[in-house]
Amino acid sequence: MPIDSTTQAGTKISTVRLIFEFPYPSQTAILSDMQPLPGLRPSFTPDYQHRSQEVLDFALEWIPGYRDWKRFDPGSHHPVDERYAALPVTSKAHIRSHFPDGLRPLGRTLQAGLDSQEIELVHTSGTTEERVSLPWNQTWWNDSETAAWALHSDTARLPLGRHPEAILANPISVGIRNDDRSLSFADRSADRFLFLNEKSNPLAWDAAHYERMIRELQTFQPVVLEANPSLLADFAHYLLDQKRSCYCPPVIILTYEYPSRLFLRAIRKAFACPIINSYGSTEAGYVFMECEAGRYHQNTAFCRIDFQTWSPTLGNPRIGRILVTPFKNPWLPLIRFDISDLARIAAPQTCPCGRTDGWILEALEGRVRDVTLTLDNRPVTVNRLDEVLSQVPGLRGYQVEQLTLNSFRVHAAVAPPTPAGLDSVIRQCLESLYGAPLHVEIHLVPRVPPEISAKNRLAKNHLPLDPETLLETSHA
Ligand SMILES: [Zn+2]
Repeated sequence: MPIDSTTQAGTKISTVRLIFEFPYPSQTAILSDMQPLPGLRPSFTPDYQHRSQEVLDFALEWIPGYRDWKRFDPGSHHPVDERYAALPVTSKAHIRSHFPDGLRPLGRTLQAGLDSQEIELVHTSGTTEERVSLPWNQTWWNDSETAAWALHSDTARLPLGRHPEAILANPISVGIRNDDRSLSFADRSADRFLFLNEKSNPLAWDAAHYERMIRELQTFQPVVLEANPSLLADFAHYLLDQKRSCYCPPVIILTYEYPSRLFLRAIRKAFACPIINSYGSTEAGYVFMECEAGRYHQNTAFCRIDFQTWSPTLGNPRIGRILVTPFKNPWLPLIRFDISDLARIAAPQTCPCGRTDGWILEALEGRVRDVTLTLDNRPVTVNRLDEVLSQVPGLRGYQVEQLTLNSFRVHAAVAPPTPAGLDSVIRQCLESLYGAPLHVEIHLVPRVPPEISAKNRLAKNHLPLDPETLLETSHA
């Protein structure tokens, strides 16, 4: 099924070197395209490099929205990686400004695709900045999914393709929405898919809703349960709290949002099957797939990846921004699409699972715009924050908002009775991460509501200057 973008808003068009300036002038980080480092060079097939070159040459020649980028291209006598690194990035704003046909080859119009029913028009969710209208090519999407599922032995061995699949997502992202009344099983079924939820606000779920999900999973017996991790964790807590058993599918695939360790813990307690995280977006298709060893492998048959890494002075130099060039989608041939998320590259580029093709990630680090800052202005990714807060006993979910450098508001999701000393444990955790002393305002809630994008958001940054908007455009 369509996975909605896991990302937030794109940035303005940026170029070779992105100045990632924090609110405090002495703390300036530079994002730049990754230079080969010892042990960090992934393995690519000649076909991958050839395809990268073909896609780039075609875009610069035949796609109006990219023709202008020719002036940045050092030329075909340069290695293909160098050529990509010299180019700007494609942001959501760039996609919007070239709607409807600026990012398609000359002669291939959106209207023609719609008329021939090769594509549909879809609209991603979120704020005005985040939303974008895109041609949806189901055939390409399915092929991209099939290739990604080969990257985990449990999905590789299942008879996938025409399998029954249940989806637990926010209907704003995917599915059939109705906030006024409950829809029947038939109303929420489409082809081989069953949408388990029609409510845009998961806080409206009651016991009848959870019980319906239990019954429907038993009846439908999906081979795959695809789920938004925050929603599935919520369902898992219901099962655990009520000591209810539930049909367990052969595999659960998580997508749509960053999977907090707290969510994973609850899901693993409630479901005994393999739980696999899949990373991608509506624009980019299936980009990375988690393997049995918990690392992420690039879907090289369907996309090229470029990284822009942080300055080593900011901490881990293996953390960087992911730029995706999707392959084989003639209706949306993007170059260096800024998916707006950070990842940590594995060092060395090997994995215990034995797969060697393409980039290997040690972790997904969360959205660029959700980076928060320590008292001494060092960036903290969502993944790092989650590593610390997931150790708080009794916590089921959270949202941390950084209001000023030293003041935070925390929404902490707990079930009654509230664990003793919770406030002070959360404060200690945050001070161990950001420095002390901090002003911490803690609100206990049963569940953290989703954002306007329909996604759960673990961190928000209200500092005077948002790192995302401070990316400057300049050529090296
Ligand atoms: Zn692996």
